[in-house]
Amino acid sequence: MPLEFLKRKGNADSAPTSAAPPSTALLPEEVVAQDHLLKLYYAGKSSDGVRLKAGPAAIAELPTMLVGLAHSEIEVVEPLPIEFSQATPTIVSPSEAMQWLNAHHVHSPITRHALVVLESIDAIDLAFDTFVCSLLDGEVDTSGYPEYSAVVGGVASHWDESTGDMIVRAVVGWGGKGVRGDTDRIGARILSGLLTNILANQYALGLTAVERPVPAGGRGGLVCAHCGFASAHERAFYCPKCGMRLLRG
Ligand SMILES: [Zn+2]
Repeated sequence: MPLEFLKRKGNADSAPTSAAPPSTALLPEEVVAQDHLLKLYYAGKSSDGVRLKAGPAAIAELPTMLVGLAHSEIEVVEPLPIEFSQATPTIVSPSEAMQWLNAHHVHSPITRHALVVLESIDAIDLAFDTFVCSLLDGEVDTSGYPEYSAVVGGVASHWDESTGDMIVRAVVGWGGKGVRGDTDRIGARILSGLLTNILANQYALGLTAVERPVPAGGRGGLVCAHCGFASAHERAFYCPKCGMRLLRG
């Protein structure tokens, strides 16, 4: 591999030095192209939801579900209010990227990495999810960001619109500029450990088939009378942040 690389570079270098480029702008018979390529690989897994009967107090239970599996501080990311409803970790969309940075710059490098991976693959949606996150396997670099083979994640929860119960699922993700063969297996093992912890919670009622809500992109506008949270999720009956019933005008 290094030999081939040197040979190719040598050939390319010899062209301009051996003969001065002609001033005519004729297209050569064979165009020499330098290839540039970046392969980004993001992947993740999420479990079915577990129904928790606990009311708003259940939010305090979420971090305990990572105990024994977390390899770093456990961080809680709350649902985003309406002013961040366009937040996306995509730097070529400056307005969306700015919202995303404003919403998440306070979090740790591990949590920001997890959000980029899990939002990019649509495993979590902060319009309605509360996300509790930690490093779960692998290493971080000298700046504190997880390596591509590190597994990050934890649990994500939302409120069931028909019953007001809390629905919690295990979510893990990994990825970056590389991929390692055994990460998928490690991720699956951690996901199973997280699901075991969720089911072991005192408020857990068992696995449920409730689908994740679909956030209506756009106006939102319901403001929680209990905590003041302005939801971006138009059809929500329960405040994504505190879980109390939203009052409609
Ligand atoms: Zn609220």
